[in-house]
Amino acid sequence: MNFTNGIALDGPAGAGKSTIAKIIAKRLGLPYLDTGAMYRAMALCALSEGVSLTDAEGVDALLRRTDIRVVYEADGQHVLVNGADVTGSLRAEEIGKGASLISKLRCVRDKLAAMQRAIAHETHAVLDGREIGTFVIPETPYKFFVTASAQERARRRVQQLREKGEDPDFELILKDIEARDYQDSHRDYAPLKQAEDAVLIDTTNMTIEEAVDAVLAALEAK
Ligand code: C5P
Repeated sequence: MNFTNGIALDGPAGAGKSTIAKIIAKRLGLPYLDTGAMYRAMALCALSEGVSLTDAEGVDALLRRTDIRVVYEADGQHVLVNGADVTGSLRAEEIGKGASLISKLRCVRDKLAAMQRAIAHETHAVLDGREIGTFVIPETPYKFFVTASAQERARRRVQQLREKGEDPDFELILKDIEARDYQDSHRDYAPLKQAEDAVLIDTTNMTIEEAVDAVLAALEAK
């Protein structure tokens, strides 16, 4: 199969998108691009430089003096900010919230989406994000919208945190997920949205393997 222009997997946080995208990429022998990591890296950069995440002018100036790069190593994708590898610091909860805020700014989206588009066109990668199919590579016929109920996503997150030895509060996690969904789908510019021609994969009652099989079957049917 030839995936010129890349494969787009969009959907809300915690639906299993990145796990599915990584497996699909591996099976197809293509690179995987975690676009959220790029927004997280910009949020981290702004926070460490004391630039407010909602200050469009300040963030625009920051973007101009910041060199952000995605590189691939044996263990997968790494993000470099001005040459420093920030990959290990991106998963913290507050960085996710910061990414959701900074990603509302048009200057941030335009810069990162242009980089993502170039990577998709050059490498035919599998991209996961929020608006890959509607905004970054709308030209690709290979689009998926991966979702699950907010309750189920909260349940999975609680389980993940428990496995790390934490003792999370289900209601708080659910509230955070709902707030992030609202913020991502109500921003003015390139919001989280299912593309009209995307295949819907609702993982609420599916295992990861079932979801992967559904994506691969839809790709083969194209
Ligand atoms: O997917 P992840 O949780 O790493 O994304 C963090 C935040 O970055 C999301 O809540 C969203 O606001 C933003 N994001 C985005 N567009 C993408 C990927 C992430 O706006 N393509």
